[in-house]
Amino acid sequence: MAKRDYYEILGVSKGASADEIKKGYRTKAKELHPDRNADNPKAEAQFKEANEAYEVLKDANKKAAYDRYGHAAFENGMGGGGGRPGAGSQGDFASAFSDVFDDLFGDFMGGQRGGGGGRRAARGNDLRYNLRIDLEEAYTGLQKTITVPTAVECDTCHGSGAEGGAEPQTCPTCSGMGKVRAQQGFFTVERTCPTCNGMGQTIKNPCKSCQGQGRVEKEKSLSVNIPAGVETGTRIRLAGEGEAGMRGGPTGDLYIFIEVREHKLFEREGNNLFCRVPVSMTDAALGGDIEVPTIDGGRSRVKIPQGSQSGRQMRLRAKGMPALRGAGAGDMFIELAVETPVNLTGKQKELLREFDKLATDNNPQSTSFFSSVKSFWDSMKG
Ligand SMILES: [Zn+2]
Ligand SMILES: [Zn+2]
Repeated sequence: MAKRDYYEILGVSKGASADEIKKGYRTKAKELHPDRNADNPKAEAQFKEANEAYEVLKDANKKAAYDRYGHAAFENGMGGGGGRPGAGSQGDFASAFSDVFDDLFGDFMGGQRGGGGGRRAARGNDLRYNLRIDLEEAYTGLQKTITVPTAVECDTCHGSGAEGGAEPQTCPTCSGMGKVRAQQGFFTVERTCPTCNGMGQTIKNPCKSCQGQGRVEKEKSLSVNIPAGVETGTRIRLAGEGEAGMRGGPTGDLYIFIEVREHKLFEREGNNLFCRVPVSMTDAALGGDIEVPTIDGGRSRVKIPQGSQSGRQMRLRAKGMPALRGAGAGDMFIELAVETPVNLTGKQKELLREFDKLATDNNPQSTSFFSSVKSFWDSMKG
């Protein structure tokens, strides 16, 4: 798929000012935010797209590169995807995310970033965990224990970062603002405070267990409940299960992204399942009962009507996938694939020739059966 133009994604014109770009991004981010679009993969994709676009256009250098070279300027940079199971690939996702949170929240809370800075409680990162499951598991739902590398509150200092429970002090360099100003010629330059790294606080005796961070890295085991009916792209949010914040800052969230493996037999379309079932030429011609496997692990009897053609579809009501967080279930569709007999004995061949003769002599209608068998093979070859 060709990448869309970044300006177009944010709904602004090519010559848009930094303010217009920011405004465009905020409008899109609010509209597409995952909290408002639960289980909407399309909105999620657009949300990421908007993040990516803003990531570039808000940065003067990247914007200049993009204006000049287009997407080619970042060929290896962004996007990601990867899709391997495990918790390794949260990088792009988490950073895109925290950016939005910073941005939206920073602005909503009174535009403090414009003026003198002001410290923000360092919220922990959101984590992404890709979970690959089988169609059968998506059908039943499942309880799964996952292990994620994350950061948790330090036990020794209970998140304060200070040894022996001492309270952190307001940073003397920046008076708690997290930023310092320096005069350079006519300009005043504002930068992150070097003493406290923007935290606004310093710690006299940093906790030895966490080096004053208030959190430590740890593998965390979590039992998660995957509801029945999930599909590839379903996202499950576990609020507060992401990384712990710095020095007691708010905890991020954990997002579980579901990927359902392809099934040998069933193809899924929404909540409906499709499968091809081979039937013998005689069953197709004379009618009969066949048994088909169903996704719940059982079998269902299906009546094949006389004179069924290859490709005929039949529906088994409510034998598809359960609706996610809803009542009911999809249907299962089976498509008959009439099998032409092979390795015939001499006697069988003789009977078929006899049949052919009778069919063409006396029953022109049944020639359509042979022509359908023929077109089946033709279609297999083509
Ligand atoms: Zn500690
Ligand atoms: Zn400071």
